Parts: sequence; C-alpha cells; structure tokens
Amino acid sequence: MSDAPATADLAVLNPATEELVATVPAATRDDVDAAVAKAAAAQRGWAAAAPADRARALRRFAAVVDGHIEELALLEVREAGHTLANARWEAGNVRDLLEFAAGGVERLSGRQIPVAGGIDVTFLEPLGVIGVIAPWNFPMPIAAWGLAPALAAGNAVILKPAETTPLTALRLAELALEAGIPEHLFQVLPGHGAVTGDALVEHPGVAKIVFTGSTRVGKQIMAKCADRVKRVTLELGGKSPNIVFADADLETAAAAAPMAYLDNTGQDCCARTRILVQRSVYDRFLELVVPALEAVRVGDPLDEKTQMGPLISRTQLERVRGYVTDDLTTIRGTAPEGPGFWYPPTLVTDVAPTAPVAAEEVFGPVAVVLPFEDEEDAVRLANATEYGLSGSLWTRDLGRALRVSRAVAAGNLSVNSHSSVRYWTPFGGYKQSGLGRELGPDALTAFTETKNVFISTEA
Ligand code: NAD
Repeated sequence: MSDAPATADLAVLNPATEELVATVPAATRDDVDAAVAKAAAAQRGWAAAAPADRARALRRFAAVVDGHIEELALLEVREAGHTLANARWEAGNVRDLLEFAAGGVERLSGRQIPVAGGIDVTFLEPLGVIGVIAPWNFPMPIAAWGLAPALAAGNAVILKPAETTPLTALRLAELALEAGIPEHLFQVLPGHGAVTGDALVEHPGVAKIVFTGSTRVGKQIMAKCADRVKRVTLELGGKSPNIVFADADLETAAAAAPMAYLDNTGQDCCARTRILVQRSVYDRFLELVVPALEAVRVGDPLDEKTQMGPLISRTQLERVRGYVTDDLTTIRGTAPEGPGFWYPPTLVTDVAPTAPVAAEEVFGPVAVVLPFEDEEDAVRLANATEYGLSGSLWTRDLGRALRVSRAVAAGNLSVNSHSSVRYWTPFGGYKQSGLGRELGPDALTAFTETKNVFISTEA
C-alpha cells in the first residue's frame, strides 16, 4: 500500500485533512526475532495457567477496552477517517470479541471416544505464537478477530497492523498490559508488509499466520506458509452481489442498497458492489435508488450525522479513480472539495459484467447495477466472479430465498438485509475470498491442534 522505502518510519496521515497525525518507527526483522522469542516464553506460562484465570484476564482486558471506547474511537477517526459512529462500534466490537472469547476458555473441551481396551481422549492444544497481519480498513475489529480467540485458546499473539493505521493497535497493547495480560503475550509490531509482515510469515517460531488483506498478498503468504506447512487463515477480497428480485419489497431494497456498499467508504470486503436487479423492475429500482444515494451524508467524520468519510489514502483514491473511467455512465452523490482523500458515492450503470469496475474489487464508494432475467440468470451472474465472500438477496418468496442462498457460492449471505458479520457467527470466504473461518462458535478451535491420546486399561 505504502510507496515509502521498506525501512522508513510510518507516517500516519489524517485521511480527512491530510495532516500528519504521528510518525511511528517500523519494526525490523531483528525486532521480529526478539518479539517471537519473548512471545514464546510468555506463551508457556499463559498456556499453563488455570483456564479460569485466563478467562478472568481476558474479561479484565475487555473491561479496560470498554473504559476507553471513546479514546480508541477518536484515534480510529484520526488515523483511518472512519465516521465517529462506526469507530465507536469498532472499539465496542473489540470489547465484545474479548468477552466472547473469554467465555470460551473454560469450554474448550476435547472429546472422549469409545474404544476397546482403554479410553481415548482428545486435547485441544494451543499452537504457540500466532502472527496476525491486519489491514487498514477495519484496524481494530480485524486485529481482535485473531487476537481474542488466539489468546483465549492459550496462544501468544504478535500483531502487525497496516502501515497507515498502527495507532489503535499500539494503544490496545498498552491497555492489555494495564488489564494484567502478561507482558509479551500480546505484542504489536508496526511495520512494512514486505519486512515486518514477511519476517512473521517466514519465522519458524510463528506457528500460524492470520492474514486479512488483498488476494494478491494473501496468495504470496499462503505460498510461503506452504514451505513450512505453517497454519494459515486468509480473509481476502470480495465483489459481493446484492440481488433484487421483482417480488421484493422494492422500496426497502432500494433504500438499503447505497449504505450496503458505502459503509466505511466502500473499503469493506463485504461491500455489496454488484447490484443485480431483475429486468422487469430495473427502471423502477433506479428511480428509487437515486434519491437514497443522494441523501447519503458525506463529510467530516467527527460530525455525528456523517454516514461516509474519506478514503484511507491518496494511493487508494487514485486506485478508485482509475476504475471509474470517463466512458462509463454514472450516478453520483457529492463529496467535500479540498484536502482529504474524498470520492463521491457512485453508481455505474449500462456496463458489461466483465468490465474491470464490475469484476474487480474497487474498495471504494463505487457499485455497478446490472440487470438479470430470471432466478437462474441471477445465480449465474452472482457466481461469475473469482470471489465468494458475502451477498444479499431480496425477495418475498421463501422458497426462492433458500434456493438462491444455497446456490450462491459465498460464505456469508443475508436475505432481505445486508448484515453479514457478527462475532458469534462464522465468517469467511469461498473461492479466492479466503481460507478458513473466523468468529463464531468455533473461533478458538482455529488456534489449536487436536491431540489424540489412547490410554490402555490392559497394562
Ligand atoms: P495488502 O494486502 O497489501 O495489506 C494488508 C496487510 O498485509 C498490511 O498489514 C500489509 O502491511 C501486509 N503485507 C503487505 N505485503 C506483505 C507481505 N509481502 N508479507 C506479509 N505482509 C504483507 O493490502 P493493501 O495494499 O493495503 O490494499 C490493496 C487492496 O487490497 C485494496 O484496495 C483492497 O482491494 C484489498 N484489501 C482487502 C481487504 C479485506 O478486508 N479483504 C483489506 C485491505 C485491503
């Protein structure tokens, strides 16, 4: 993402004003070596502690985060340009993830399996040191998706935040210490992907990498992990469909469509950026969606009424501009002028499904509207992508809702709504949207190995 040399300090800019917020030293490969050694030592003590004590420590961590929601939210607004309402939700999500994970510590049971001549039991053992490589689009929640269950399952965590958004991660590490989480059990190493991130991926002392970010980098990481058979969870890109059938509550579907791709300025791997509308209601849908789009409030992230802020960086702004070429037919909302990485809410119509803006992850406030003929055509279009993360469908027909939900190859679908991520339900992608699942009832298990032990009663 950053064009800076891979050793340079990280310059954190406020995306709404382009003002320098902070300069943060980048961790070197030696820093990673030292952190892994310290993490491994801390992990041994943590894994040996009573489950109730580990659960209590995580609940204290959650309580301390809860006491700092406003501070963390304001930091997120400054470094990521998120709206204040979103940033408060994100800080609260960290608290919730820690509490949820704490509840799992004493429930992380193995099994007893019937055998002849003895007993057979399984243990869910921690992996050791986990490397979490986080992106800039949801710096706090995505860090905590890895951090909370990994700690709860008895592991240590080294978190590498994205170059542009290290500040909330660094603050969370301070809050962990304040809450009594053992020293070095959770460390944050800000740095460049090609140095700090790569050193974590290559380090033999790191048992698993949890990566969220671009599909391009995810593939590189997976290939490097393969060399050591290192465990890996990948949460990658998306180009999610929002399928509107003619029998849907069209007013509600049209009213919901803009924020389903504009939330977080479209920098959301679940953004519903391919709006597929049945041809018989296509024109009516457009009539309804235009005022909804124009009503989206874009501006100062600190204004509580703002619904959409700036993009994260100039690089991202240029990337988004590159997709919306002059030959395209667009419907646009408004965005502030002047400093800041602003881009208006945009809908592209009359475009081929194979055009780059319709097929690739733009990661900005841009969606395409494409017509379809019938249910079969809707499913075909929805699945005509290398991605498979999320999707929505709008219909009043229950049978169709279930048929299409089962037919769309994506990990997270919602019917007559756009919700997709809850910390207590599983989340992850089909196809090139990722590998493995995070969150949900099995979140802790993803940070364990299963060991099977047979004990003879014959000896
Ligand atoms: P990225 O994949 O380069 O960065 C994500 C994280 O990986 C960052 O912490 C980065 O430092 C780290 N990283 C980069 N190269 C690495 C390497 N070789 N080894 C280890 N770690 C490395 O993403 P980006 O450049 O910030 O964004 C580019 C595009 O990726 C976006 O426009 C968007 O399409 C997509 N993206 C998707 C998500 C998502 O949630 N799925 C998040 C961020 C970006």
